[in-house]
Amino acid sequence: MASRSRLWTPKRSAPFRFEPCRCKVAGCDLPALDGRPIAVSYRTPLLVRQGRLVATGGQEMHAASFLRKRRLVLDGALRRDPAEWRRIVVHELFHFVWVRLGNSARRCWHELLRAEFAGHAKGELGWSAEWRKERLTADALRRPTRLAREYACESFCDTAAWLYAGAGRHPEFTLPARWRKPRRLWFIQQFGERAVPL
Ligand SMILES: [Zn+2]
Repeated sequence: MASRSRLWTPKRSAPFRFEPCRCKVAGCDLPALDGRPIAVSYRTPLLVRQGRLVATGGQEMHAASFLRKRRLVLDGALRRDPAEWRRIVVHELFHFVWVRLGNSARRCWHELLRAEFAGHAKGELGWSAEWRKERLTADALRRPTRLAREYACESFCDTAAWLYAGAGRHPEFTLPARWRKPRRLWFIQQFGERAVPL
């Protein structure tokens, strides 16, 4: 291919147009990505209330993704912490992946999570999955509730961040090694031979 890929780093001044086919995320070992561009910008602090960005009074977040608008807003403070920036960026990119993954792959991820529950696997690969997991039981995971759906999605995004963001160790990586291995294999099977759609 003639066009050179552009590097997306935390230092880039916002807004940045992330083109999945042409841009590389600095410091990450991501598979090939495919999808329409995502507009990226920063806010300090990043405050969100009821799914909307607000100037005051919202909840402070690391990131907010607007999937249909293909827009990603990051907390400006992340620019000073490249490792955390990578972890959050990969997590958010995989929110875009989750919606394009298709039902059969999502069901397959659910099955993996159910097997973990059946095996009494504790811990997760990020806090956004872990706090939801703590509120779920094997029975509740099987039911089509919002919490079960959100947990599946967040655990998917946290696993991607653990796998691709080059973090090595992180205090939020609490899932034991024996349970990490099937997750890694799942990702290799899903995305080993095709570009990741996002
Ligand atoms: Zn998330």
